[in-house]
Amino acid sequence: MSHKISAAVLRNLSSPFLPESLRLEDPGDDEILVKIAGTGICHTDIKVSGGYAGVPLPVVLGHEGAGVVAQVGKHVTSVVPGDHVLLTFDSCGKCPQCSTQHPAYCDEGQRLSFACQHSEKGASLASSGELVNGNFFGQSSFASHAVTNERNTVKVDKSLPLEILGPLGCGFQTGAGVVLNVLQPSAGQSFAIFGAGNVGLSAVMAAAIAGMDPLIVLDVNPHRLEIARTLGASHTIDLGKETDPVKLIQQITNKAGVNYSLDTTNKSEVIRQAFESLANRGTCIHSGGGGKDLTFPGSLLLHGRTVQGVIQGDSDPQVFIPQLLNYYGDGKFPFDKLLSFYPLADINRAVAEMVSGQVIKPVLLM
Ligand SMILES: [Zn+2]
Ligand SMILES: [Zn+2]
Repeated sequence: MSHKISAAVLRNLSSPFLPESLRLEDPGDDEILVKIAGTGICHTDIKVSGGYAGVPLPVVLGHEGAGVVAQVGKHVTSVVPGDHVLLTFDSCGKCPQCSTQHPAYCDEGQRLSFACQHSEKGASLASSGELVNGNFFGQSSFASHAVTNERNTVKVDKSLPLEILGPLGCGFQTGAGVVLNVLQPSAGQSFAIFGAGNVGLSAVMAAAIAGMDPLIVLDVNPHRLEIARTLGASHTIDLGKETDPVKLIQQITNKAGVNYSLDTTNKSEVIRQAFESLANRGTCIHSGGGGKDLTFPGSLLLHGRTVQGVIQGDSDPQVFIPQLLNYYGDGKFPFDKLLSFYPLADINRAVAEMVSGQVIKPVLLM
């Protein structure tokens, strides 16, 4: 059997998403059909729509979905129809990274995220006989329905507002995971976060949970710096006005530099500033998208400093998403304050308002 669904289809690179009706085949034996309630838009969707990672066209993107299980394949045991679920990145479950609870670094991750091909027996998308590529990040959730598998489907409590949860599966777990999974700081350690988008602000919330201090946030957008203060930042630096952020961070930390810094901008000069802001034996995390050659002063690197790349906050989603939901329930991770909602048909307006910096995290409602 196949299901009639609505989806936003990307037919050409760097062109608008087109709302279309498609046919989606039944899930395969290991797959799950999810009726989507809401899907966040991530900067990776936008980069991919411009040609990054070379996904095949036409394609349905979207990788921050949440919804209700509608149908399961015969081998699926972790969820049943009617369960509420949040979707995240896919992983193989068998490689050395997955076997040691680091699925964000799955050796098959690049293929599972970007090849956009369903398994032989799995569901496929079609538009009047023509194949439309799906399975982006194991979901393709810019659509009323998506097919997933058990590894990237996290069951959530039915009392939670389902339509807001999707962004936890990528953007918010990325920033929060940098702090809570990777850095695991002690209270009172210092932190500078470059870029106050959804990744930077989720790192702010997690750093406040960990008691990091001073907690310094840098951005060119004064409104975002205000939000950072409401979420726990002790200091903010407006990069639209200040030309020497490294010097200001030295002043705030009594010339020591920060124990940890995070770049979310993916700009080479900003990553260098994040590195130069470190104290001896400090760690600079690069989680801004990658792909560029970076340079650092070797004299600084020598003093025990580390530069580390992090994907998806090194999260094991089946463990970390429930933790974040507990913090949300306790009022310590108020990610819902950062969301703006749009109907699926307004996806292009949502993308434009995200790119312009007008909104932090757009969520498409199905
Ligand atoms: Zn993402
Ligand atoms: Zn793997």
